[in-house]
Amino acid sequence: MSSEHPRVPVAGTAVSVDHYIGGRRVSSAETFEVRSPLDWSLKLADVSAGDAATAATAVDAACEAGADWAALGVAGRGAHLRRLAELIDETVGALAEIECLDMAMLLESLQKRVISRGARNFRAYADLAEAYSERTWSSNGTANRVERMPAGPAVVITPWNAPFMLATWKVAPALAAGNPVVLKPAEWAPLSASVLADLADEAGLPPGVLNVVQGRGAEAGAALVADERVRRISFTGSPETARAIGAAAAANIVPFTAELGGKGPLIVFEDADIEAAARTAAGQYDDSGQVCLAGTRLLVAEGILEEFLERFDAHTDAHVLGDSRDPATTISPLIHPDHLARVEGFVERARARGDAVLRGGRRHRPDGLWYEPTLIRPASNDSEIVQREVFGPVLTLQTFADEAEAVNLANSTRYGLSGVVFTGSRERADRVGRSVRAGTVWVNCFLVRDLTAPFGGCGISGLGREGGDYALDFHSDLKTLQVRQDTTA
Ligand code: NAD
Repeated sequence: MSSEHPRVPVAGTAVSVDHYIGGRRVSSAETFEVRSPLDWSLKLADVSAGDAATAATAVDAACEAGADWAALGVAGRGAHLRRLAELIDETVGALAEIECLDMAMLLESLQKRVISRGARNFRAYADLAEAYSERTWSSNGTANRVERMPAGPAVVITPWNAPFMLATWKVAPALAAGNPVVLKPAEWAPLSASVLADLADEAGLPPGVLNVVQGRGAEAGAALVADERVRRISFTGSPETARAIGAAAAANIVPFTAELGGKGPLIVFEDADIEAAARTAAGQYDDSGQVCLAGTRLLVAEGILEEFLERFDAHTDAHVLGDSRDPATTISPLIHPDHLARVEGFVERARARGDAVLRGGRRHRPDGLWYEPTLIRPASNDSEIVQREVFGPVLTLQTFADEAEAVNLANSTRYGLSGVVFTGSRERADRVGRSVRAGTVWVNCFLVRDLTAPFGGCGISGLGREGGDYALDFHSDLKTLQVRQDTTA
């Protein structure tokens, strides 16, 4: 490690390419390259690649800051978090442009919705932590009280899709609960986390309370989760990585949450508003399908298939693949050439095994990272394209004869993050909503999220729940304090 602190201009903002540890910028001799998916020839930055020593230094800083941060109490911490939220709100424009260049999400949705969710996350957790009411009761001649104790240093590991929003979603409850945090963002989209560190600094968060370690998962990430001083690990990413992190967490007996991939069903019953269902189905191509919650398996009642497809095609035809900064664009490029190759591989294997490609199924143009919105009618429910998450603009289409078959198909993968149901019947909404095995089921709507609701997955889509009080409980050690009732002052 050295003490240089270079910054590079990204969309007009000077962004640090260093780690942020103990309130100061720290460089690594080794770096990794960050390019823009909007134009792969555009190198954005060489970012410090942390190693085991960097990880240990960051955990040192977190440990040092932990006691004072915990002692501040919920109100003291809340004041810091609310100040940070204000600064995020003031920086929405710059953050949106940086995130757009870094990972290609549509600029307009970053400006209008996604980045400000980050500010809301900090405010919401400041409020929720303050609103906690300790449970009290009497039993066996004692007064009982359940208290939340800060658990200790937390490591937060995030993926490259929606990196700023997801980082704040996970960092905010950890800080609100009283834990110092080490955040390691994904190496394919690390820049907005660096800006978050600047804003935390400006907000006056004490040194070491929020640390950002840049680097590759197998090096910086693996070293962080293996550190035995870490008391919580909050991870969002793929099931493969969750297995490795789970093994490290198990070795140190550390609770961890894992928000993982999805293969959500989008079920359309014959009594549904077919136009709304078709529009929502075509909307699953947004963000090029790089959305864990996407309903990527279209399950449509046999009797309405023709009408559904006609409407779905019209909405899909209206998509515009282009530069994410152009307001006319609705489909952005994929994040990385390796990811594009992965998506192509899924579709080629599907073709080879006899699944029918109904639309798309190829790159949009040779010189960019766009992939055409693709619809595949699988030869069978066992097809890889039905059973594994693609994380690209690729949907499958299957039909069902009745409600029981729809539910069986919906529950036929190992994932269980989300489900979407379109029906005109309230009874069916309740019945099917209850039967679909997933952490979140939306009926006649999609992606409306309440920050206080539990969030997570069943099966290989995840472990544990975050969101609302669930995240605050996760980041706390709950203590039962029992005092004999005849204890006098
Ligand atoms: P990934 O698992 O490859 O990487 C996620 C993070 O883990 C990165 O920061 C990476 O550097 C780090 N990492 C990798 N190996 C590690 C190791 N051995 N130890 C510690 N950290 C390590 O996932 P990705 O490709 O960045 O993200 C895409 C995946 O994330 C998809 O499967 C998607 O569905 C999932 N995702 C889930 C949610 C959710 O809330 N359920 C949200 C967004 C994305």
